[in-house]
Amino acid sequence: MALPKIDVPTYELKVPSSDKIITVRPFSVKEEKLLLIALESKDQNEIINTVKQVVNNCIVKGEFNVDKAPFFDIDYLFIALRAKSIGEKVGVKLSCNNVLEDDEVCGEIFNAEMDINNCEILEEDISNDIKLGGDKGVRMKYPGYGAMKRIDGGLEIDRKIDMVIQSIDFIYDKDGTYPARDQSKEELQEFIESLTEENFRKMEEFVDNFPTFAVRIEADCPKCGFHHNVRYTDFMDFFL
Ligand SMILES: [Zn+2]
Repeated sequence: MALPKIDVPTYELKVPSSDKIITVRPFSVKEEKLLLIALESKDQNEIINTVKQVVNNCIVKGEFNVDKAPFFDIDYLFIALRAKSIGEKVGVKLSCNNVLEDDEVCGEIFNAEMDINNCEILEEDISNDIKLGGDKGVRMKYPGYGAMKRIDGGLEIDRKIDMVIQSIDFIYDKDGTYPARDQSKEELQEFIESLTEENFRKMEEFVDNFPTFAVRIEADCPKCGFHHNVRYTDFMDFFL
């Protein structure tokens, strides 16, 4: 005889990049298990694919493509789902950098509680159309989750160039457009490295201002009493 199916709660979330509402359910034991297995593998591709799969599994209704969405959508949905599954209040450590009367920094490290519901997306208004002089230019996009997470290691300038390459939607001139997906990474790298410093900086500005999300936390330092009202952005612990 079939066992009864236990109803799971569903709730609505707003997709940061599109403002569309989707209906989701919390992680089940199955998804928690998939995540643990992926983390134990320490294999980056497996972790990336599992995070995407788990987010996809939990979407009950609505339009969302985990392969096409920008990285910060997946970051946000994953953390929101995780919060709904393990609890919306999470303990974090804050360090107090309040300057005291004797010019010393307080330095106290203390526990505070983060409520994931106080999540906000921080966005700068940066144009995605980068003019490179004459009729030439580049149209930028936000990288997907996998592309973004694979940018890792090496020199900072190499990571930056990588990030710029992953953010190119297409290059254009008076004759037409050249989609980045039709070029090899080497060709795009060569293109970027041949730009003037000034033009590179315009593209760099775009990637330096990717939307990120933060959770507002308010807490009083137990040592000096300073009232902290901070935007918490370090979610690494949440993923690992
Ligand atoms: Zn303090």
